Amino acid sequence: MAIQGWVLIVLLWVSCAEAKYMVYDTTSKIVPGKLNVHLVAHSHDDVGWLKTIDQYYVGSNNSIQVACVQDVLDSIVPALLADKNRKFIFVEQAFFQRWWRTQSEAIQETVKQLVSSGQLELINGGMCMHDEATTHYIDMIDQTTLGHRFVKQEFNVTPRIGWQIDPFGHSAAQAYLLGAEVGFDSLFFARIDYQDRAKRKDDKTLEVVWRGSKSLGSSAQIFSDAFPAGNYEPPSKYFHYEIDDQDSLIVQDDENLFDYNVPRCVNEFISAALSQANVTRTNHIMWTMGTDFKYQYAHTWFRQMDKFIHYVNQDGRVNALYSTPSIYTDAKYATNESWPIKTDDYFPYADRVNAYWTGYFTSRPSLKGYVRTMSGYYLAARQLEFYKGRSKAGPNVDSLADALAIAQHHDGISGTSKQHVADDYAKRLSIGYDEAAQMVEMSLACIMESSSKTGCRSPTTKFQQCPLLNISYCPSSEVGLSNGKSLVVVVYNPLGWKREDVIRIPVIDEKVTVKDAGGKVIESQLLPVQNASLAIRNYHSMAYLGRSPSTTPKYWLAFSASAPPLGFNTYFISRVKKPVPHAKSHVMHSSELSKSGTVEVGLGALKLVYSGNGGKLLRYTNSRTKVNATVDQSYSFYAGHNGSKDKLDASGAYLFRPNGSHPLKSKGKASFTVLRGPILDEVHQKTNSWIYQIARVYKGKEHAEFEFTIGPIPIDDGFGKEVVTRISTDIRSKKTFYTDSNARDFIERIRDFRKDWHLEVNQPIAGNYYPINLGMFIKDDKEELSVLVDRAVGGSSIVDGQVEIMLHRRLVHDDSRGVGEALNETVCVLNKCTGLTIVGKYYLRIDPLGEGAKWRRSFGQEIYSPFLLAFTEQDENSWKNSHVVSFSGIDPSYVVPDNVAIVTLQELDDGKVLLRLAHLYEVGEDKDLSVIASVELKKLFANKKIKEIKETSLSANQGRAEMEKKRLVWKVEGSPKDDPKVVRGGPVDPATLVVELAPMEIRTFVLAFN
Ligand SMILES: [Zn+2]
Repeated sequence: MAIQGWVLIVLLWVSCAEAKYMVYDTTSKIVPGKLNVHLVAHSHDDVGWLKTIDQYYVGSNNSIQVACVQDVLDSIVPALLADKNRKFIFVEQAFFQRWWRTQSEAIQETVKQLVSSGQLELINGGMCMHDEATTHYIDMIDQTTLGHRFVKQEFNVTPRIGWQIDPFGHSAAQAYLLGAEVGFDSLFFARIDYQDRAKRKDDKTLEVVWRGSKSLGSSAQIFSDAFPAGNYEPPSKYFHYEIDDQDSLIVQDDENLFDYNVPRCVNEFISAALSQANVTRTNHIMWTMGTDFKYQYAHTWFRQMDKFIHYVNQDGRVNALYSTPSIYTDAKYATNESWPIKTDDYFPYADRVNAYWTGYFTSRPSLKGYVRTMSGYYLAARQLEFYKGRSKAGPNVDSLADALAIAQHHDGISGTSKQHVADDYAKRLSIGYDEAAQMVEMSLACIMESSSKTGCRSPTTKFQQCPLLNISYCPSSEVGLSNGKSLVVVVYNPLGWKREDVIRIPVIDEKVTVKDAGGKVIESQLLPVQNASLAIRNYHSMAYLGRSPSTTPKYWLAFSASAPPLGFNTYFISRVKKPVPHAKSHVMHSSELSKSGTVEVGLGALKLVYSGNGGKLLRYTNSRTKVNATVDQSYSFYAGHNGSKDKLDASGAYLFRPNGSHPLKSKGKASFTVLRGPILDEVHQKTNSWIYQIARVYKGKEHAEFEFTIGPIPIDDGFGKEVVTRISTDIRSKKTFYTDSNARDFIERIRDFRKDWHLEVNQPIAGNYYPINLGMFIKDDKEELSVLVDRAVGGSSIVDGQVEIMLHRRLVHDDSRGVGEALNETVCVLNKCTGLTIVGKYYLRIDPLGEGAKWRRSFGQEIYSPFLLAFTEQDENSWKNSHVVSFSGIDPSYVVPDNVAIVTLQELDDGKVLLRLAHLYEVGEDKDLSVIASVELKKLFANKKIKEIKETSLSANQGRAEMEKKRLVWKVEGSPKDDPKVVRGGPVDPATLVVELAPMEIRTFVLAFN
C-alpha cells in the first residue's frame, strides 16, 4: 500500500477536523540523533502457573485467570496483516506449536510470510522460558533444542535473542551457554536485585557485556540488558491496552468527539521516554509493550501504538517506532558504544528489603526430584533409542522430552505454580516416562536378542523397571523365585566410562544369592527394610496407585555391580536352600553402643566416627588421604515469617523469610542403630517423629551418603517450617563458599557481600542463599568440604566452616507474589491428607585442598546418571544361551576421558545423530583434568561408520561456523589486553574424527552414518 501518499491526505483531513477515516503513519525507522523509542509488542505466556499449560492455551478455567493464548495467536495474525509496519514477538514454543498444528495451510503460509518479513519474530525459541536457578544445564539445552529445531524446520530461521524476562534472577550458564553458545546476540531480562538495579540505573550499567564463564571468557560473552523498571511491562499504567485495562491512556484524536487529548498523550509519552533515557546509554530505549497473557484482542494495543507513533513523530521531540529486540540490538550495536563487563550471575534476587526470592530454590522438592530423575532417565533412554533404532510411530522418547521441556518453565520446576498445575507437570512426566520405559525395555531386549542391527520391532523378552524404588517398592524384584527361575537384573550404564556402583533392591526372601554374568557368586548383603520405609511404601501406593502392595519385602539386597561405558552387564539373583552366611547385616543395638566411647563405621579408607552415647557425628577420617576432620551434622528448621500485619513478604513459594532458627535435637541413643556388612555400613538415626536419616559408607567409596526422610512437617502450631541440614567443620572458610551455576561452573560466594555493589544486609540468612543443582563446597588452606545433591535445592554457608542445605519446606502463608496459595503440599488417601514426606539424598566428602573437584565432577555425573535397572525372571542357563549378557556401545578398548561427559546421544527424525560432548572442568579447577581432552569418535561409534560430521550451535539449529560468522562482537570498557586468552578445541578433521574439548567447552555435532 502506498502509505506515503496517504500521509499528506491524512494531514489535510486532520487540519480540517472533518476526518472520518484516519490512516496513521507507522512507517518510522530509526532516526540517528534522536531518542528512538522502540515499541516491542509482546505477550508473556507462562507455560503453566495459575492454570495448566492447556488451560492457558484454550482459555478454560478463566475464574482463576482470564488468559487464552490461542486468542493471542489468532488475533495477532490479522493485526499484523492490517499494517506491515506492526511487529510482534512470540516466545514460548510449547504454546506456538499447539497453535501451529491446528492452523490451515493458508494461515500457515501467511504466518511463514510474517516470520520471514520480520513482522513476527520468534525469539528465545525454547519450548518455555526456563527457570535459571533450579534447572540443570542439560535440561536447559534439551528444551531449547526442541524449540529451536522446530523453528528452523518450519520457518528456516534461527532465533537471535534471549528473552528471559520473568525468571527470578539470572544464571551465568544462561548467559554463556544458553545465550552465547546458541548464537544469541543479546539477552534481555527484568528481575535483578533491587539494590543492584538502583545502582545500575545511577551509573548507567543496566546494559553490560556478560561473561558468564571464567573458562570461556570473551569467547562466550553476550550483550545483556536488565530492564530499568525491574519488570517487563509498559513504562506506566497509562500504556497498558488490554481490553479490560482500567488506567489506559486512550488517544482520543477525533475532534468531533469530546475529550480530545492528543497533546497530553504526546507529552506523557515523551516524558516517560526521557526518564528511561536518563538511566540507559545511547539514544535507543526499548518499551516492552505487553505483559502476562496480553494481546488476546491484539487490536486494542496496536490501535493505540499506531496513534502514538503517528502523533509523537509529528511532534518530533523523540522518534517512536515499531521494533523488535533484534532491531533494538542491532541499533545498540551500531552505536559502537563500549559496555561494562559483568561476570558471575544475578543471584539471589530480592525485589525489596525483606523479599529474597530464595525459597523457590527448594520449593516443591518432590517435583524437583522427579524432574531430575526423569532428566537422567531421558539421557539414558535416548542412548538406548539410538542403539535400537528410533521409531517415529513409537514407543519413543518424544512425550518425555516434551514433558521435561515444559517442566523447566520458570513456574514449573521452580515450585511456584498452583498445586493443580504442579500435578499437571508431574502427570505429563509420568505419561512420558511410561512410553520411554517401553522403548527402553524393547531396546534392551533387542540388543540382548542380538536383533538390534536388523531393525528389531517386537522382541520376545519382556522387562520391567522400578520407578518407585524411592518408596521402597519394586514389584519385579519382590518375587518368590520358587519356580527355579532367577531374577535377571540388567544394569545399564549411561556414562562414557566404566563404573561400579552398589545396587539396592527390595526382596521378600533372605535365601538369595547373586551371580554375575560369568556365573560367579558375588558378594551381597541383606539389610532389613525399616518400618518407616514400609509405612511410606504403603501410604504412597494407596495414594498414587489406589492399592496396597501385595507383598512385604523384609530386606534390601545390596550388591556391587559394574557396567562398561554406554553398556550393560547382567546379574542373576537366585534362591538358595540356606540363607547365605555373612550376608546379613550385623545390627548393633543402642545398648551395645553405650559401652564403648565411640562408634566407627566404614569398611575402607573412609571412617565416620560417632559418639557412643547419643550417636553424634564427631569425625570424618580418610586413611588414604590423611584427612582427619572434626565434623558435625544436624537438622534445624526456620520458622516461616508470617509477613506481619499486612501479610506481605511472608515466607512462601517464592520468598524465604525466616523468623528464627530452631535446632532439632535427636532423641539420643534410643534412636541410633548401626548396621554393618561386607558392602556397606549404615547408621540409622531418628531425629524426631518426622525426620529419619540413614548415613551410608560403602566399601571402596570415599564419600558418605545421607538419605533423609523428612515429613510430614507439622504445622499445627500455626508456623510454616523450612528444614535444613547443617554440616559443620573446623574449616576456616572466611565467609567464602562456592555454588554451581545450573550444575556447570562453580561461582565464588562471599557472605554478606556482592561484587557489583555495596550490599545493604537486611536478611542475613535468606540474602545469603544461592541455588544449588550439583553441589557446594568450602575450603581453607588445608582441606575442602564438598556436598553434592540429588535435586535442585537452596544452600548457604551462614557461619564459617559450615555448609547448610535446605531440603524441604511447608508453609502456611502466601507470599503475595502471585501464586495465591500457601506452599502446603499434602498427599491424600481418600479424604485424609497429610503433609508431604520427602526422601532424598546428599553426599559428603572432605578432601585435601585441590583434590575435591575430581569427586564433585565425576561423582556428580554418577548422581545425575544412575544405573538404569531392568528386571525379568528366567532360568539362568537358558537365558545365557539365548541372550547377550554384556554389551557396550563403544569400542571395548576405549573409554571416554575422565574429564568428558556425553551429554546427548540421540537419533533424530531424519536418521542423523545428535552428539554433545561436555568438558566437565573449569580452567584451573583440577591439576590433572583441567586440560584439553580428546574424544575419538571412531571408537565411540565402534560399530558404525561416520559418513558426515557437522559441528553446530549448542541448540543444533545452525552450523557452528555460520553462527560464529554472524555473531556481533561487542566492545567492552577497559583494555582488551587484560583479557585472558581463551582456549577452545580445534576443528574436527573428518579423517581422524577426534574432537578436542577445552575446559568447560560443550561441542555439538550432527552425524550421518553409512
Ligand atoms: Zn512468567
